[in-house]
Amino acid sequence: MTQSTETQQEATPQAKAGAVIIPVTLFEQNCTLIWCTASKKAVVIDPGGDAPKILRAIQQSDVKVEKIWLTHGHIDHVGGAAELRDELKVPIEGPHIDDKYLLDNVVSSGARFGMTGVRDFAPDRWLNEGDQVQIGALSFDILHCPGHSPGSVVFYSRELHFAHVGDVLFNGSVGRTDLPGGSHETLIKSITEKLLPLGDDISFVCGHGAGSTIGQERLTNPFLTGEM
Ligand SMILES: [Zn+2]
Ligand SMILES: [Zn+2]
Repeated sequence: MTQSTETQQEATPQAKAGAVIIPVTLFEQNCTLIWCTASKKAVVIDPGGDAPKILRAIQQSDVKVEKIWLTHGHIDHVGGAAELRDELKVPIEGPHIDDKYLLDNVVSSGARFGMTGVRDFAPDRWLNEGDQVQIGALSFDILHCPGHSPGSVVFYSRELHFAHVGDVLFNGSVGRTDLPGGSHETLIKSITEKLLPLGDDISFVCGHGAGSTIGQERLTNPFLTGEM
């Protein structure tokens, strides 16, 4: 997996997958385009808004988007999902159904942040613990990781040693739990029981800011080392 922020960088030829991060919305949310190098089939994870910017990145990467995946239902992650589904004519997969109350209220959440043109919607498929999703030759396991929101999911590829963790875990921090449906205790349980066991060599992209590895966070993240 190669990765770049803001620049449209191609995957190295031998890599099975490529990715670019497209920061969107006033929350600088890491909308992520991931593709299978062999087939050029791609997925957009968390199109939070700024659909024209996402469409430009897709075009520049010269890939064919076949799916939209959502890590959870917060406005900065889903605000552009309905628009992009219409534009690209592809299905939306995720999050877990426990975030349905958020997807039923995208318009009212958006209004709070001055985000217009967003729509309430239902995904084409809810995701559950143990499900698998595919894009081209790439396969990702679904880990249901509640705590930041009740329906948060993580997309994990064993083969790529990679996970997209949404707002569950951050570089040096963890997801906020002060929003309705949040639980810090549940979040830490999700991280310690589902993410840390994936192994220290797993690199991850998170919903905001720079990514990291499970090993780095296990050793230095104050929320995991007991300092916070
Ligand atoms: Zn969130
Ligand atoms: Zn977020």
